[in-house]
Amino acid sequence: MSVTLTSPYLDSPSWLRGNLHAHTTVSDGACSPEEVIADYERRGYDFLAISDHDKFVPPADYQGQTKMTLIGGVETSANGPHILHVDAQEVVEPVRDRQVAIDAIQRQGGFAVLNHPNWQAHFDHFPQGMMERLEGYAGIEIYNGVIERLDGSALATDRWDRLLGMGRRVWGFAHDDSHRPGDVELAWNVVQSEDRGAGAILLALRQGRFYASTGVTVRKVGVKGTTIRVETEDAQRIRFISRLGIIQATVDSPEAAFTLPEDEDAARKLLYVRAECYGAGGRCAWTQPAFIS
Ligand SMILES: [Zn+2]
Ligand SMILES: [Zn+2]
Repeated sequence: MSVTLTSPYLDSPSWLRGNLHAHTTVSDGACSPEEVIADYERRGYDFLAISDHDKFVPPADYQGQTKMTLIGGVETSANGPHILHVDAQEVVEPVRDRQVAIDAIQRQGGFAVLNHPNWQAHFDHFPQGMMERLEGYAGIEIYNGVIERLDGSALATDRWDRLLGMGRRVWGFAHDDSHRPGDVELAWNVVQSEDRGAGAILLALRQGRFYASTGVTVRKVGVKGTTIRVETEDAQRIRFISRLGIIQATVDSPEAAFTLPEDEDAARKLLYVRAECYGAGGRCAWTQPAFIS
């Protein structure tokens, strides 16, 4: 018997930065698709998905205008909690039964992300019970930028730890959910991709080869045996978090490592280890969990 720690990350050092959740005048955004694309390009993004409410903006219509890789997106919005449809080819019917919507997204070849769980005055846009019942989604938004100026909490790592603590294997995404220029470049995903093509970026996202960030840069996440090591450019503190949000270690350094307990039962009880990397000004990066089995 032995315990293994499985990380989604590769040793490959190439990272690409992008946002998968942005609105335009096609739904309730203030700027046209052209303006939104130009804004992200100017800021040095590598990929972008426009994801209007129940409306599809075909990436092919705009790919000629930008060096960024455009990815198809829709925010499935009417009739229930919002679901990001990534790698969309067309709009799926926003039916009240969200499992039916997720199944339709998957049938189309896309993947689903449950959006801004802690939005609204009751901090419960996406009820936890529904998240726990739904199946077949790739992850949840653990940070949603526009909620900084709306009711509720932009941060939703609490929801993530509850799902991970049940044994669910879902990834944490960070997005702007930009509706106007002030919402841009609040939160993003940095993907370990083989190349700049949409196919490679989407594969990396599905496999969890990315981290979510509001400003801290991660250089490397490595697993060797039962040790996970995180190297960043600019974190001042790194925390390793396990089952149901328990902080296992805190290190005040841009690089840190955590080794599972030698006792196998104790190690297994942690279920997963993920890192939160805190930098200046409240910035943070969240790595995906390494799972213990
Ligand atoms: Zn939404
Ligand atoms: Zn949105």
